[in-house]
Amino acid sequence: MRHYVGGAFDASGDPFPLVDPVHGRTVGEVPSAPAALVDRAVRAAREALRGPWGSWSPADRARMLHRVADGIERRSREFVAAECADTGKPRELASTVDVPRAVANFRAYADLLAGRAERSWHTATRDGRGALNYTVRKPLGVVAVISPWNLPLLLLTWKVAPALAVGNTVVAKPSELTPGTACLLAEVMADCGLPAGVFNLVHGPGPGAAGQWLTEHPEVDAIAFTGESGTGSTIMRAAAARLAPVSFELGGKNAGLVFADADLDRAVAGTVRSAFTHSGQVCLCTERLYVERPVFDAFAGRLADAARRLDGYGPMISAAHRDKVLGHLTGAAADGKVLAGGGVPVFGDDRDGGFFVEPTVLSGLPEDHPAVREEIFGPVVHLAPFDTEEEALALANAGPYGLAATVWTGDLARAHRVAPALDVGIAWVNTWNLRDLRTPFGGVKASGIGREGGEHSLDFFSEPMNVCVKL
Ligand code: NAD
Repeated sequence: MRHYVGGAFDASGDPFPLVDPVHGRTVGEVPSAPAALVDRAVRAAREALRGPWGSWSPADRARMLHRVADGIERRSREFVAAECADTGKPRELASTVDVPRAVANFRAYADLLAGRAERSWHTATRDGRGALNYTVRKPLGVVAVISPWNLPLLLLTWKVAPALAVGNTVVAKPSELTPGTACLLAEVMADCGLPAGVFNLVHGPGPGAAGQWLTEHPEVDAIAFTGESGTGSTIMRAAAARLAPVSFELGGKNAGLVFADADLDRAVAGTVRSAFTHSGQVCLCTERLYVERPVFDAFAGRLADAARRLDGYGPMISAAHRDKVLGHLTGAAADGKVLAGGGVPVFGDDRDGGFFVEPTVLSGLPEDHPAVREEIFGPVVHLAPFDTEEEALALANAGPYGLAATVWTGDLARAHRVAPALDVGIAWVNTWNLRDLRTPFGGVKASGIGREGGEHSLDFFSEPMNVCVKL
């Protein structure tokens, strides 16, 4: 595990242990970047803006993004192994979602860049000769990309690809818990011939370490961050000091609505995915489900059965996170009903040293209970009944977050009425986590600032400038 700064790998800094969440064993060490190295990474990125990279055409950059995608594809087995080692997630998930999506992130932005139009206006003037106004888009400069541990490769490349597409240079800091795939990505960048300093990587925690030093660095022009809402507030304070723009993808407490007219087979199967994929450690996972009263008992029974039958799931990322999830489950068991799961599974093998939590279905908790209000980020979903569409919307829209929601209904008019009335950035109808990379992605309220995806990312990572030519 090494940093990558100015085109060279570097292992300086005090090492911190890397723990395998499946078995709970320390499997390696990662160097924590010293402040001087973070500073060097930012300076290397600044320097690279003035180098050949600064004059690459969009077509040159698009070709490079495809080369990076090819490089990830060529080493996809290593990336899958590193993703599993980083997070403990099932191989099936890493090989069908995380790694192909990292490849797709680079290809999508390369292709979008090629088709990107710039606007111009012919402006009337009193002398009748007119003026031509046109916009050019310029990179922001040095961009800090700070990513979380749950989808480490997917979310890192989701920001790095568009940042590079429009000509920025990047200093990336992955989560200290999941540094493996980021190291491989740096190797791919080096092998592809990306000019030195265009992509830099530093490891380490956030507060009092690489994360904080990066966000406070006066030469960082913009910050793209995915992580907890509280961390977002801290980073925004750092950015405010120098008025640096931020793009934030933050926490969620996503609601689902199941109407009695829904196809219940689909709704149950969809909720198993939306609540338990990656053991609930996806920002888009459903943690609150509201079910129309006539089908509540049937739905709850079927979801609880399905949760009990789940196997092959992965662990929580760390002992601390497992303990946080279990703390919520203890509180929920005291105040409500546990319909399935609720504890730590016993496997009878060396996974018993890992950080697993059973897929859990809760019900009977009041809406102001911490397990219903706060983001748990584990394999936990709470069910509550509702009687009317208005009540369902009010329940779903309550609370501080607004990232994503799901609506399960067989009534087309209801789908189009309810989905846009949800206070979220993304609403899925009769599906979950179906993504088209051109669409806007992000949250409202405490779930984020700005939108990523397609043109939205290219817009954030570049600044339009107007040129006015008198004719
Ligand atoms: P986190 O906020 O603890 O850490 C995220 C990153 O920020 C890490 O790299 C961390 O080292 C760094 N960091 C922490 N404190 C910092 C500081 N003071 N200054 C600079 N950097 C700092 O989040 P996490 O626990 O890694 O990830 C889980 C959270 O991420 C959940 O809340 C989840 O909902 C959210 N998330 C959101 C999305 C989305 O698209 N909205 C996607 C995935 C995860």
